[in-house]
Amino acid sequence: MRVALVYNHSDKSLEVVQEFLKLCQDGQFIRDDKNPEVVVTIGGDGTLLGAVHKYGDQLDKVRFAGIHTGHLGFYTDWRDYEAAELIESLKKDQSESVSYPLLDVTITKNDGQVCNYFALNEATIRKVNGTLFCEVIINNELFENFRGDGLCISTPTGSTGLNKSLGGAIVHPFSEVIQLTEMASINNRVYRTLSSPMILAKKDVLLLKPHSHDGMMVSIDHLNYEADSFETVQLKVSQKRVSFVRYRHNHFWDRVEEAFIGARVVSKPCQ
Ligand code: NAP
Ligand code: MN
Repeated sequence: MRVALVYNHSDKSLEVVQEFLKLCQDGQFIRDDKNPEVVVTIGGDGTLLGAVHKYGDQLDKVRFAGIHTGHLGFYTDWRDYEAAELIESLKKDQSESVSYPLLDVTITKNDGQVCNYFALNEATIRKVNGTLFCEVIINNELFENFRGDGLCISTPTGSTGLNKSLGGAIVHPFSEVIQLTEMASINNRVYRTLSSPMILAKKDVLLLKPHSHDGMMVSIDHLNYEADSFETVQLKVSQKRVSFVRYRHNHFWDRVEEAFIGARVVSKPCQ
């Protein structure tokens, strides 16, 4: 099996990298960072995000597996002391995988240039110098004029990231949808927005058209693009998906509970 390694440089991660490399020296694995079958990440969710973008043009061939060296991750199924277990599972690999939807982002610039990206967590559109004022167009029809700090469009797996902090819903990643959440919308007699998170269907195409372009900023996962030349940003469910090795069955809602609720404190109702 051809395996690539992507890791962050925390002391713990570097320790796990050494252990991982030592454990897979028995000939069944070839380290191949260029053309891997499985990409193993060691670090946090951020490390995995970076790896998915690094191998973005090979998503149809590659599966990911994450070892987390920090707190519980959403994309990382193995704990830092479980490198040996992951290697045992890789040895018995039967191509088991689970795949999740991605967000398709198309930016059209004012010179007509079109750039296409994908996001695993979310894309945001903001302005660094004042409020964002933009048309929100759904399936070619104007839905609203948004004025506020910005807009966030997330995937189901990204729904536990920035989307959650913005009051968005947590979406099970078996749903092929995208979610639009507002960042501090202005609502008064002049400006009006829906003010609720919205979940868009697979067939829906969302187009954001800012009224002024200076200071515009688009983020895609951990990457930021500053540009005054963005004319429109189009968002929809991507045709591409991202695949993970599936050797253990971690239920999504268990993961959500573990990450955000934790040990249950049973409190007695007030008498
Ligand atoms: P970061 O500043 O290290 O990320 C912020 C936190 O979000 C980290 O704890 C990260 O986990 C966690 N995270 C990333 N993806 C997640 C997901 N799908 N579900 C739940 N938590 C998630 O930056 P980063 O590591 O490069 O990650 C970028 C992502 O961070 C963005 O895509 C965005 O979703 C999220 N973010 C959230 C906020 C917020 O909630 N206010 C602000 C900025 C960014 P690790 O520590 O394991 O990396
Ligand atoms: Mn991080």
